[in-house]
Amino acid sequence: MTAPKHRVYAIRYGRHDRIARANFINPPGDHDAAMPMEYFVWLVVCESGRKIVVDTGFNEKTAIRRGRTMLRCPTEGLALLGAPAESVTDVVITHLHYDHAGNAAAFPSARFWLQEKEMQFATGKYMCRDFFRLAYERDDITHMVGALFDNRLELVNGDAELEPGVSLHWVGGHTAGLQVVRVSTENGCVVLASDLFHYYANFSEASPFPIVFHPAEMLDGFRRAEALAGRLGWTVPGHDPEVMNRFQPEPSDPEHTVRLWEPLSDQSLHARPAP
Ligand SMILES: [Zn+2]
Repeated sequence: MTAPKHRVYAIRYGRHDRIARANFINPPGDHDAAMPMEYFVWLVVCESGRKIVVDTGFNEKTAIRRGRTMLRCPTEGLALLGAPAESVTDVVITHLHYDHAGNAAAFPSARFWLQEKEMQFATGKYMCRDFFRLAYERDDITHMVGALFDNRLELVNGDAELEPGVSLHWVGGHTAGLQVVRVSTENGCVVLASDLFHYYANFSEASPFPIVFHPAEMLDGFRRAEALAGRLGWTVPGHDPEVMNRFQPEPSDPEHTVRLWEPLSDQSLHARPAP
């Protein structure tokens, strides 16, 4: 049986200018070098026609309060790809941080796929600590509790398959319940790493981003993501502007959307950990 040939897109919606020391516990180079962050949501268009949204991005209110630039609402990018938010039936939430779970109310028809551990983490004792609570928004969490009461929340423990060739995998690390998404494409498996590693350099230097629940688990997760991608596939970081340079622009939205199954060159798509 041949592997499914799904499509998977990265859709950029936000930006934050920052320096390297904000992006590593121990920055590998110049600590003060410019190292902007970009924000993405992702869309899987299955062979069957089913559309699966991965993360919902931050909303305007949160962007203003946190000093982030919102290039446009993430739902605009989805609509350009034929996936208007109100019609979407499945939304994977990689974790509940504000920049990944912020527009859930715009998806009234969706079931949300979340790791049970993330729900426990976001409503449990560690939220009493500012360090862990910092990147969560009360409204996002209460919306997810509402989805649970409406029978629109699928709580996953570990691995789950949404469709042949589209699977979820718990990795933890960044938050207690972070999950990554593996998508089978015509060119191998693409693993959406989300915030397992924000930048290619977090991965290649084996140097964690400073917002982290469990650093050792995060480093184990790097290996897991690489294994999930396999010899032919590749992993995609959650916030690296470089993603826009490594893949084919999507003709219907070339400024902000790339086709993650179509790399532009044979440059190393796996940013392998330093030996
Ligand atoms: Zn993030």
